[in-house]
Amino acid sequence: MTPLERIIRERIAQTGGITVAEYMDLCLGHPELGYYMSRQPLGREGDFITAPEASQIFGELVGVWIAAGWQAIGAPKRIDLIELGPGRGTLMRDILRAVRVMPGFMDAVHVHLVEISPALRKVQEEMLADCGTDVSWHVNLADVPRGPAIVVANEFFDALPVRHYERLADGWRERLVMIDGEGSFCFAAVGNAPEHLPEWAETLEVGSIIELSPERTVFMEGLAARLAEDGGAFLVFDYGHAVPGAGETLQAVARHEKVSVFHRPGEVDLTAHVDFHALAVAAERAGMTCWGPVEQGPFLRAMGLAARHEMLRRKASARQKIILKRGVERIAGDAQMGRLFKVLAGVSPGLPAPAPFEPQTGES
Ligand code: SAH
Repeated sequence: MTPLERIIRERIAQTGGITVAEYMDLCLGHPELGYYMSRQPLGREGDFITAPEASQIFGELVGVWIAAGWQAIGAPKRIDLIELGPGRGTLMRDILRAVRVMPGFMDAVHVHLVEISPALRKVQEEMLADCGTDVSWHVNLADVPRGPAIVVANEFFDALPVRHYERLADGWRERLVMIDGEGSFCFAAVGNAPEHLPEWAETLEVGSIIELSPERTVFMEGLAARLAEDGGAFLVFDYGHAVPGAGETLQAVARHEKVSVFHRPGEVDLTAHVDFHALAVAAERAGMTCWGPVEQGPFLRAMGLAARHEMLRRKASARQKIILKRGVERIAGDAQMGRLFKVLAGVSPGLPAPAPFEPQTGES
């Protein structure tokens, strides 16, 4: 039994059961024993590989997007570049390498990283030691000073907690994590009804399970409200769906393999698909205009993936060419991240459609 499992069992014994969101929050964010607190989960040696870890082109194209966004808001003399959940700092490193060619940008930019993990913060400090601009760290977005900003996030929202609800004959009930007769963790639909049942769920059959995340909605509303007021844009990448529906996607991954969500709490990564429709609705409610979500593959191709790949290929050795190609397939290939991953952009009032969105494709 992991030390965190003991704590979770005690909490269940005291309260009768905890929500899936509380379980996820404890597993990932417990101040000492949470997954992100002490571990270095990313990369080949870790538990999972993200797009920026798979190919430098990912961050370079995000850099192009950011530079274009800065120009679209009038190239202000000061711009805050905020990244949520920066992992090893690889995405920010690649972004900054790409934006360096944009005259004036490096003088204007201040980098803010929002990170809860002290272990990952150390890795980020090393990665960005010579990045050419000042970097500050914050545990919460609310601690980042206000002003025009561009916000990027890759695989951040999937780590924020979800709740599960099941439709019983007499209505919806929240699923709790409890202990069964044999002493193992189990789910039981004995909690409260959701505060807001989305419209699409109203007609679902008895036995249906839905995943909702008020936590993600609240986070997005906070982010969008400040950007709408101060001016700026966001670009969010994650795996998830554009159209919401029934089903549960909570999953645990350890060493690149799926395991039970109850396996070794605190030692495995827990995530759930992102409902991009809900995020877009939340952002627009708070005053932003959203573009997308679109699939990551088409997005990256429209941002110039092939041209960048070709440029790097020209300077690469035979071995590097193979690694480059594998990375490109990973971030944009249909069977890999290209379709499962989605991209949502949001801009503050009055700004034009961000690259690569055409005015007629804008929808939320
Ligand atoms: N963006 C990175 C890492 C993704 S993993 C990449 O693409 O490689 C998720 C990241 O979010 C980690 O850095 C984790 O520590 C951070 N994180 C998770 N929950 C968080 C929270 N509530 N607040 C701030 N950071 C969080």
